[in-house]
Amino acid sequence: MSDLESFREEVRDWLNANCPEEMRRPMESEADAVWGGKKGQYSEPQLLWLERMAAKGWTVPEWPTEYGGGGLSKEEAKVLRAEMRTIKARSPLQSFGIWMLGPALLKYGTHEQKLEHLPRIARGEIRWAQGYSEPNAGSDLAALMTKCEDKGDHYLINGQKIWTSYADQADWIFALVRTDFEAKKHEGISFILVDMDQPGVTTKPIKLISGKSPFCETFFD
Ligand SMILES: Cc1cc2nc3c(=O)[nH]c(=O)nc-3n(C[C@H](O)[C@H](O)[C@H](O)COP(=O)(O)OP(=O)(O)OC[C@H]3O[C@@H](n4cnc5c(N)ncnc54)[C@H](O)[C@@H]3O)c2cc1C
Repeated sequence: MSDLESFREEVRDWLNANCPEEMRRPMESEADAVWGGKKGQYSEPQLLWLERMAAKGWTVPEWPTEYGGGGLSKEEAKVLRAEMRTIKARSPLQSFGIWMLGPALLKYGTHEQKLEHLPRIARGEIRWAQGYSEPNAGSDLAALMTKCEDKGDHYLINGQKIWTSYADQADWIFALVRTDFEAKKHEGISFILVDMDQPGVTTKPIKLISGKSPFCETFFD
């Protein structure tokens, strides 16, 4: 038997023993999705499934194990996904941290930044929002004006983000801010990670015509 085939058997056995029955049914509503974070309220099977998958590193199967991942190869991760589909297992965790921030940190972050943030993303402890768009910076993202000043021991941020999906549910936000007002429009922009639980950071939901919406405005005062 090839290594990949024995891995498949191992995965199949583990999933059968560890995926709760309730997590093998299609999601019926948004409430069935687990986004993690400090504000999330989840059922026992949802939490159990998340905990078990995170302990294996399988919420982010291809990330390195030292950062909370499963350390799987592309082929192994494909096997895991296929076996999950076979038993109709739900994704244990949806996350902008996994889809958007994690890959950027893996490529550009320092070892300390990776150690601090990636394992908490992998375990679903911190829910992240994305703060790029502004009222006057949509498709033309380089028009962004949120100002960030280096004050030595802290950064001072003033400005507004818009269309920040689920920001009212998030714990931290990764944002693009202007750190150099003299530079050309497409330069002088920095990528910053902000704890939203601090004075001066507020969010306000935006209602769409349907009456609900994931979108928010996020203010830095
Ligand atoms: C599902 C979803 C989730 C999102 N979540 C987030 C989020 O969490 N955080 C975040 O920061 N952003 C998010 N965005 C992006 C944000 O909502 C805006 O859609 C995006 O910034 C585009 O800006 P805008 O809506 O102001 O449109 P505009 O940039 O004003 O564009 C309006 C129209 O004009 C057209 N247009 C723009 N420029 C030109 C040009 N030079 N020439 C010709 N036509 C042009 C565009 O194609 C478009 O049809 C999300 C978007 C979607 C769809």
